[in-house]
Amino acid sequence: MFDKILIANRGEIALRIVRACRELGVRSVAVYSEADAAAPHVREADEAVCIGPAPSAESYLLGDRLIEVALRLGAQAIHPGYGFLAEREWFAQAVTDAGLVFIGPPASAIAAMGSKTAARQLALDAGVPVVPGTQEALTDADEARSIADRFGYPVLLKAAAGGGGKGMRVVREAAEMADALDSARREARNAFGDDAVYVEKYIEGPRHVEIQLLADQHGTVLHLGERECSIQRRHQKMIEEAPSVAVGPELRARMGETAVAAARAAGYVNAGTCEFLLDRDGNFYFLEMNTRIQVEHPVTELVMGVDLVQWQIRIAAGERLPFSQDQLTPNGWAIECRITSEDPANGFLPSTGRVTYLHLPSGPGVRWDGGIETGSEVGLFYDPMLAKLIVHARTREQAIARMHRALLELTIEGVDTSRDFHLRVMENPDYRSGDISIQWLERNLEALTQAPPPAEGVRIAAIAAALLADAERVRPAVAIRSDAASPAVANDASAPSEWARAARLAGLRR
Ligand code: ADP
Repeated sequence: MFDKILIANRGEIALRIVRACRELGVRSVAVYSEADAAAPHVREADEAVCIGPAPSAESYLLGDRLIEVALRLGAQAIHPGYGFLAEREWFAQAVTDAGLVFIGPPASAIAAMGSKTAARQLALDAGVPVVPGTQEALTDADEARSIADRFGYPVLLKAAAGGGGKGMRVVREAAEMADALDSARREARNAFGDDAVYVEKYIEGPRHVEIQLLADQHGTVLHLGERECSIQRRHQKMIEEAPSVAVGPELRARMGETAVAAARAAGYVNAGTCEFLLDRDGNFYFLEMNTRIQVEHPVTELVMGVDLVQWQIRIAAGERLPFSQDQLTPNGWAIECRITSEDPANGFLPSTGRVTYLHLPSGPGVRWDGGIETGSEVGLFYDPMLAKLIVHARTREQAIARMHRALLELTIEGVDTSRDFHLRVMENPDYRSGDISIQWLERNLEALTQAPPPAEGVRIAAIAAALLADAERVRPAVAIRSDAASPAVANDASAPSEWARAARLAGLRR
């Protein structure tokens, strides 16, 4: 095992990796930008090094500087997390060339899966079903129209280098093609520095179901079942669960074997995910492979009882996977909500500011993977995801009730967040019945973002009760201390301010 690992990331995933390191007895080195000097991941790691100013191009994306820091501090490996440098082939190669271990797949596997068009070709060659479409970048709108005529509208233009739903455009008729191609190319060039765009048939009404993989350096490739990620806005996931209501043991085995075949074809090692679209008839189509740990990995960890981040590190250190495929069956149900600093009532406008008050949910089956605390500054430099709230219960129904309860306990003051939106989804009959597809959220967005959630009254009562309990705990202490010479920590004069705070939190006073 390694002695020391450098974590080339920030926020909740950096903290997640620090925790995995600590449990493995490995020292961790955090890196941070000037904007993150007070961030929890910096304090929790064993060592921390400032690597530059706030913009990620001048800090978290400076691969060479990160490698230099790792070498200087005697780290043996680098964990890239997700985003930033996680799927940059050159970075994985540079880490290896520097004599360090990249905690992820070999650079060649990142390259094989890095371009969506190359990945589609690789999947086809491995006998993996793909969405009908092309494997080549488009030359112009005429070519795009003639391909679309062949598949039938609607079609989807996609950036070959794509990620995060960027560079994607649905085209419903020939007349829209030229403009859609221009804007997809522009977005792809800005986001990825590569404007190659290709065409896929746009599938209506499928689910997004993905398969988690672990592959060691000794030829074992296993799948850890599926995650259902159909609750998406603008092709970006917002809520994930494991398992999926649409997948039973037989389909799980078939999708799992298909994903394993794709991974083997790419020479894959470490944790990875094959993403599929699943239609109502149980047909599935390969979308892409993510060659890193994913945001939604905790739902798999909870139902499989496997620590994926620890296994990433163990695999990179050369350990063998100790399980067999038939030992990996899901136990219970897990759901994750991505808590972002966006205002759902306002078109998910990013919100910035200081977190003035944070109360975290806890109790049975609740996990909080967060990167913020009271006092954290939320700016515009980085991704708006602040934390992930994850629950685990015996059944899906119980997991939904548990998530609802946990969201009611969660209070974040100072920035707008997606919390209330998640509450409404948990209360929605379609969601509760499991009758969802990738287009479901966009079609129901208004109902899910406008009216206050019916549960709000319960939340206000809960906050008031919590603060009352706090205030009452303080009073006897004051009475005892009033005889002592030491100044009272709190006195009766502070009681009204607690009530002012309760009233403010409850929205009665601003
Ligand atoms: P990215 O890498 O940008 O996330 P993906 O290929 O993973 O792009 O697709 C993101 C999401 O877009 C999918 O989860 C799915 O909801 C939607 N999508 C992608 N391809 C198709 C398609 N051919 N038809 C319908 N929806 C699609």
